[in-house]
Amino acid sequence: MAMQTPQELPSQTGECTSYNSIRVDGPYIAMTFDDGPSAVLTPRLLDILKQRHIHATFFVLGQLVQEHPEIMARAIAEGHEVANHSWDHKALNKLGEGGLQHELADTSATITKTTGKPVTLMRPPYGATNPRLNKAIEKEYGMKVILWAVDPFDWKRPGPQVITQRILAGTQPGSIILAHDIHPGTIEAMPATFDALLAKGFKFVTISELLALESKNPAPAPSASPAPPAQKSSKSKKKTA
Ligand SMILES: [Zn+2]
Repeated sequence: MAMQTPQELPSQTGECTSYNSIRVDGPYIAMTFDDGPSAVLTPRLLDILKQRHIHATFFVLGQLVQEHPEIMARAIAEGHEVANHSWDHKALNKLGEGGLQHELADTSATITKTTGKPVTLMRPPYGATNPRLNKAIEKEYGMKVILWAVDPFDWKRPGPQVITQRILAGTQPGSIILAHDIHPGTIEAMPATFDALLAKGFKFVTISELLALESKNPAPAPSASPAPPAQKSSKSKKKTA
């Protein structure tokens, strides 16, 4: 179930096919939890989120949604977003069309049956994807591919304090933060993590809300100085990943 760093970062030049973070004009961030729902830990996390009025996004496995539909119903009722993380955590880039259909379509159908909501977002297990697969997931299965910008490697169980420190060190406006609600240490880390991020002024939103907040303003110019004949900037115009 371990997640790894995305193997392929999204293209910075072509069409936007996946997202690591979103360029926003305010202190908005999105907390995401993968690999659940867990019978014990996800309800505990929902309690922690509720106490702080924080909405998160859950990238869930279809087979676990089938086992714990009541947890997903609760997550939706409390304002969270539920999204697709495959049926049983297979690396999608190694599957044929039939395998993809099961991992993607069956999972979305099971989520929708449980929550009554369409599924518009997908996170490939292990971040194992490529531009072609991203395009197929969007065009054929109707989901945007969401990766992440902040990875505390909580699945390696470094201890709650380290998880908190890593998230605090990496989070900026627009960050998509990765964690897993199947590890006790991750859940243990969340109260301090959330409280510290709130104290810094960050505002938690779901991934769909973060996408909707994408800045319409042009990216800031590379140099702030008004006139002098600029040395040619090598900075290409980056598209939001
Ligand atoms: Zn995963």
